[in-house]
Amino acid sequence: MYDIIIIGGGPIGIACGLEAKKNNLSHLIIEKGCITNSIFNYPLNMHFFSTSDKLEIDNIPFICKEPKPQRNEALEYYRRIVTSNKLNIKLYEEVTNIENNNDFTVTTSKDKYTAKNVIIATGFYDIPNLIKVPGENLPKVSHYYTEPHLYVNQKVAVIGASNSSVDAALECYRKGADVTMIVRQDAIGERVKYWVKPDIENRIKEGSIKALFNANITEIKEDTIQVHTPEGTIEIENDFVLALTGYMPNFKFLKMAKVSLNTEDALKPSYNPETMETNIDNLYLAGVICGGMETHKWFIENSIIHAELITKNILFKQKTEAK
Ligand SMILES: Cc1cc2nc3c(=O)[nH]c(=O)nc-3n(C[C@H](O)[C@H](O)[C@H](O)COP(=O)(O)OP(=O)(O)OC[C@H]3O[C@@H](n4cnc5c(N)ncnc54)[C@H](O)[C@@H]3O)c2cc1C
Repeated sequence: MYDIIIIGGGPIGIACGLEAKKNNLSHLIIEKGCITNSIFNYPLNMHFFSTSDKLEIDNIPFICKEPKPQRNEALEYYRRIVTSNKLNIKLYEEVTNIENNNDFTVTTSKDKYTAKNVIIATGFYDIPNLIKVPGENLPKVSHYYTEPHLYVNQKVAVIGASNSSVDAALECYRKGADVTMIVRQDAIGERVKYWVKPDIENRIKEGSIKALFNANITEIKEDTIQVHTPEGTIEIENDFVLALTGYMPNFKFLKMAKVSLNTEDALKPSYNPETMETNIDNLYLAGVICGGMETHKWFIENSIIHAELITKNILFKQKTEAK
């Protein structure tokens, strides 16, 4: 019987594990992939938008070459937190069920565990927002971008105009891909990093990267794509499609755990922001999962605090029960 089971070994799940350990609460982190599986699957050359100090857990210094760390530096940092602090983590074990009868029974792909408290910190990076057009399942379509080498001398359509799409478009263009961005709105996204936005806008203005604004992809074929534009539907040659239209939390998982979702407000899960406890007693949420469909609301910087809020609440309840 653990004091806390934490589902998800991302930065916030790890922060919860460390906070539990510091407070002498027994803990188990269960992660379905490797340590910080989401970050592992980020684009290989990505730079965080945050400076490293903002990504620190428990003020443990995050030293890196430049102010904003790269993916591999973040992997090193979070890995060292797990190993140096001997956090109790099971890897490559997926949680499939949470049962709640006074205590919790957590079933995974390999075993069953029991705990007094459960924290769901499963993030949002596993389920892409599909574009739902014919051909989306062709092998040339990807909802994740890794690196530009794959696309040299290829005609690449990048769908979306947020940070991920813009980074992919610029990187692929600079390694010799013929890039066309297909953007639903009439401009590059407002939230694109302020130091990157002028770069993409100027590449589009000079014609190095083509962009179709107010446009929607309507079909993907072997060698072409069909795009609906204000001037009518056009068909353009195409080798690869990067559909970088965002990701969503696993709502089925939250429903299985009986966490209420607000259907009026971006399917945000129900929780008390002061304690992070959900509508189910002793079941907590931590990290970016808290935003529902508004996945930009929470990030590492502003959700690392969840670990402390949850632990405080668990300790407070323990003290109150002991009296
Ligand atoms: C490209 C990109 C760049 C970003 N840059 C920044 C930045 O600069 N600064 C910032 O603050 N934030 C940034 N973010 C946001 C933030 O980094 C991530 O969303 C962050 O990983 C969130 O941490 P988390 O622990 O809440 O979730 P995640 O890191 O997504 O961790 C969730 C973990 O849960 C695991 N999991 C899921 N389901 C199960 C299950 N059923 N059983 C077991 N394990 C499960 C997953 O494998 C995953 O490892 C960025 C996001 C992206 C996509």
